[in-house]
Amino acid sequence: MLNLVIFGAPGSGKGTQSEVLIAQYGFDHLSTGDILRAEIKAESELGKAAKSYIDAGQLVPDSLIIDMIEKVLQERQPKKGLIFDGFPRTVPQAEALDALLSKHATAVHAVLDLQVAEDELVERLLKRGQESGRSDDNLETIKKRLEVYHAQTAPIAQYYAQKGVHHAIAGSGAISDITARIAAVIDALG
Ligand code: ADP
Repeated sequence: MLNLVIFGAPGSGKGTQSEVLIAQYGFDHLSTGDILRAEIKAESELGKAAKSYIDAGQLVPDSLIIDMIEKVLQERQPKKGLIFDGFPRTVPQAEALDALLSKHATAVHAVLDLQVAEDELVERLLKRGQESGRSDDNLETIKKRLEVYHAQTAPIAQYYAQKGVHHAIAGSGAISDITARIAAVIDALG
């Protein structure tokens, strides 16, 4: 059972690559963004609390996210592996994930860090905003999300590098080429 974190800035292709990896390896997928958007749609208490943060391009508070992850993990029984997508997004979230996994005598096996130039990220997100109508894919919110990424999320790369599980993946080019780069890392895990 592999625990993989797909990591990178907004627009780096985490969701896209997750879908391919699910099909290719039969992994389960846990996307905090997808879960939060479903909670907003359902107008749950969590959804109501999360919406204003998401629309402002800010992170939902760690305590809400960590509680949510704990609940979701209790419900899931992944067999081959689990892809964490959009989580952890802060160092406290990374520490909470380690604590949760160690309770189950496991750990994060690899962090796949999709690296894409900033101007390409903005371009991709604006395009997604036009196609999907996601309320946070507008220029002002995109800029805020990228700022938040650099300030609060990018430092996690160092956290995982120290544990020896961080892998930089060139995230530009054809989707299938990027998948091949990720697959090489996963296959080397055995
Ligand atoms: P993207 O990576 O393109 O920004 P996501 O769907 O992963 O898209 O996240 C959308 C928004 O949901 C984030 O900008 C943030 O407000 C919120 N969010 C998602 N995951 C987390 C998390 N782990 N911690 C805090 N906020 C989160």
